[in-house]
Amino acid sequence: MMKIAELLQNQRTFFHTGKTKDLAFRLENLAKLKEAIKRYEPDILNALQKDLARHETDAYLTEIGILYEEIKFAQKHLKKWAKPKSVKSGKLVFGAKSEIRYEPYGVGLIIAPWNYPFQLLISPLIGAMAAGNCAILKPSELSPHVSKVVYQMIEGIFPKEYITVVEGGVEISQELLKQPFDHIFYTGGEKVGKMVMKAAAKHLTPVVLELGGKSPTIVDKDADLDLAAKRILWGKFINAGQTCIAPDYVMVQEEVKEVFVRKLQHYLLEFYGEDPLENVRLGKIVNDRHFERLQGYLDEGVILYGGQSDPDSRKIAPTLLDGITWDNSVMKEEIFGPILPILPFVHLKEVIEQVTNQPKPLACYFFSTDNSKQELIVDTISCGGMTINDCVVHISNPNLPFGGVGASGMGSYHGEHGFHCFSHAKSVVYQTNRFDFSFRYPNYKNAARIIRAIFK
Ligand code: NAD
Repeated sequence: MMKIAELLQNQRTFFHTGKTKDLAFRLENLAKLKEAIKRYEPDILNALQKDLARHETDAYLTEIGILYEEIKFAQKHLKKWAKPKSVKSGKLVFGAKSEIRYEPYGVGLIIAPWNYPFQLLISPLIGAMAAGNCAILKPSELSPHVSKVVYQMIEGIFPKEYITVVEGGVEISQELLKQPFDHIFYTGGEKVGKMVMKAAAKHLTPVVLELGGKSPTIVDKDADLDLAAKRILWGKFINAGQTCIAPDYVMVQEEVKEVFVRKLQHYLLEFYGEDPLENVRLGKIVNDRHFERLQGYLDEGVILYGGQSDPDSRKIAPTLLDGITWDNSVMKEEIFGPILPILPFVHLKEVIEQVTNQPKPLACYFFSTDNSKQELIVDTISCGGMTINDCVVHISNPNLPFGGVGASGMGSYHGEHGFHCFSHAKSVVYQTNRFDFSFRYPNYKNAARIIRAIFK
């Protein structure tokens, strides 16, 4: 294997040829990427089945279809995004032409996690390519089958000096992080996110951190409880709860709790049947460590539904937990599994207080038909992104930025935001030679008076 420093150097040399900045080159390679994903579809789906027991339909929607949309969107709008943006000139540069030029950072590092191992590697890559960068991709070692397919696919379509994949575990990741990249895009947990930022600080490399957290879901008494139940169950249990923006826990207004729980139970039975562990739409937990961690939560509170698990297949049935408080360990960290605690509340005010006392989450969901309550939640809860009366779906809109805030991360991508995420906005002034403001020169007599008259 070529040394990491050498890979980076080769990419840097290639970047300096200026080829990647050419719009036609970017579009041609985005098309190549889309075509390769199409060709590799069966291998990708197969690898996702092996790594996460992901059902083909869910895998297609969350890992492949979403990428086709993202690529098509970039192909359609790239010319407009990349165009220098003319802006007004200020007083000191009166008569000049001012514009913003979007230039690629150079060579980027993209590190992805295991939970959506294909999509979370390729989606940022689309932004990086659209902006004209070279990139080194580091898939997660915890989804080894997907890692292999990505390697084959990328190495088959792009020269190493443009885009390449470095497979491996933590040591490889740390080795990569020692290098002076021009940009680092990391998706994963908070603890490693801090390490990435520390490593980046050494070279003053800009970072985007796409982290996780406990995303609250609030169900108000005025909600459409039937729809709320269905939508929350879908968002929570897809990929066996191993979704960064899955509802982590539900807070439901006390007077409708019983009815709401009955609806959850009803739909869980409808969605996953009598024997959920045998249902092919239920994914598996990624490894034994996470399986045991989740298993530990099942001893907390009262199980209202589910609770079955099988260590051999590493499957845990969709489970509803009651009798949980903020003191339980299930409420101390991101659950990242198919367990949904249900906490009652009396007034919305207390929910807002509790949620805003926690680190800022990646997502927040509110179910209510009352517009003023919707506005209150949107206005008072700071989080990466929100969906009202549904969950998870805000991620699918390429017109919206996707990213966290505070403990859930920094920076955002998707669509034009992905282009900007991998571009430096450079200010350029084309000064005029038609006239010259001499009051700025040291020999000008009435400089102070004129400057004060203009800049007040
Ligand atoms: P993971 O263990 O696969 O780690 C992510 C990447 O970091 C991997 O490529 C891994 O090799 C690397 N890594 C791990 N330890 C490292 C270390 N010590 N030094 C350097 N690199 C290291 O994934 P994970 O962290 O378990 O991912 C789950 C978390 O990611 C959850 O918190 C989830 O919410 C979050 N997440 C966020 C998003 C998002 O878009 N914001 C998406 C998916 C997952």
